[in-house]
Amino acid sequence: MIPFLSLKDVTALYEAEINEAVARVVKSGWYLQGAENDEFEKNYSQFIGTKHTIGCANGLDALIWIFRAYIEMGVMKPGDEVIVPANTYIATILAITENGLVPVLVEPRLDTLQIDDSLIEEVITPRTRAIAIVHLYGRLAWSEKIADICKRYNLKLIEDNAQAHGCQAPDGRITGSLGDAAGHSFYPGKNLGALGDGGAVTTNDDELAHVVRTLANYGSSKKYVFEYTGRNSRLDEIQAAVLNVKLRHLVEANDVRKAIAARYIKGINNKYIKLPQTLPMEQNVFHLFPVLCDRRDELQNYLQENGVQTIIHYPIPPHKQECYKEWNALSLPVTEKIHACELSLPIGPAMSMADADEVIRIINDFK
Ligand SMILES: *Cc1c(COP(=O)(O)O)cnc(C)c1O
Repeated sequence: MIPFLSLKDVTALYEAEINEAVARVVKSGWYLQGAENDEFEKNYSQFIGTKHTIGCANGLDALIWIFRAYIEMGVMKPGDEVIVPANTYIATILAITENGLVPVLVEPRLDTLQIDDSLIEEVITPRTRAIAIVHLYGRLAWSEKIADICKRYNLKLIEDNAQAHGCQAPDGRITGSLGDAAGHSFYPGKNLGALGDGGAVTTNDDELAHVVRTLANYGSSKKYVFEYTGRNSRLDEIQAAVLNVKLRHLVEANDVRKAIAARYIKGINNKYIKLPQTLPMEQNVFHLFPVLCDRRDELQNYLQENGVQTIIHYPIPPHKQECYKEWNALSLPVTEKIHACELSLPIGPAMSMADADEVIRIINDFK
């Protein structure tokens, strides 16, 4: 069986360094808000190219804190609108509705799987405050056009960078530094993954950084003094220590993903299977390798029977979920098509080229 992603094999790549890092924290007697978090925040800021990194409990919280901080700062208020791609993992949308803000769902393009930037201007209203872009699948979602719209309409540009650690814009800037603030997830399967939950906000905005850090620590920046009704949303020292190790190897891990993806792009040739538009290699860190197939479920079963494990990202779009009943009747045909046809092939830093070749051979035989 070729697994979709073997986390065990990924961890094994760095096992000695991870064991050393974890043992160091265990011995230190200091488990929250300490030297490992400081070190990770410093290293991650340097890597992303922002002034601040604020570690927090997970990627969903990171996004929630960005919008909440803008509300506390008076930049947004409940009822304001945030433009967001309709095809995303639900966390992006949850972070908006959690804060009483209104997501305005915009269709993606079928060839890029990213928000269609030509549809953004027509949905801007006097209540629009932000555009949230999602570098879904590890693909760059940023464009000059989006940056320009944000400038002209005075909108915040927020990045969901949960799937794209190390991805670059055409000018070499790293995703997470392209807008006003970015949310990052360190869920174990992400390109930069912890051995448990973790997340971070990156930004160059001093005030936003202070408010996010305060919110994620019960709303307190001074012991036993509470400015906001925050929550406990901290990154623990063990995860920060693991992330320091994994961050050192992120570029090489992404390079393995890129090599496998290049092999797939060159080798996959089947009239029933479409690949999204190929981006310049710097603009895609291949968190996932999505393909589109009208007979998706049949393809998935066929691959499973032939020893290739795949996952659908994602089977039900946010507007068709039970938790968002009010949108169930919306018609978003491109989004619905992607969710009906998408299948993600195995990819990861521990996968071998021989396995990639095997996937290619099997998928090309799908009739
Ligand atoms: C994983 C993910 C998140 C949420 O991250 P968690 O750490 O699981 O909370 C947010 N957005 C996207 C696009 C994701 O893939």
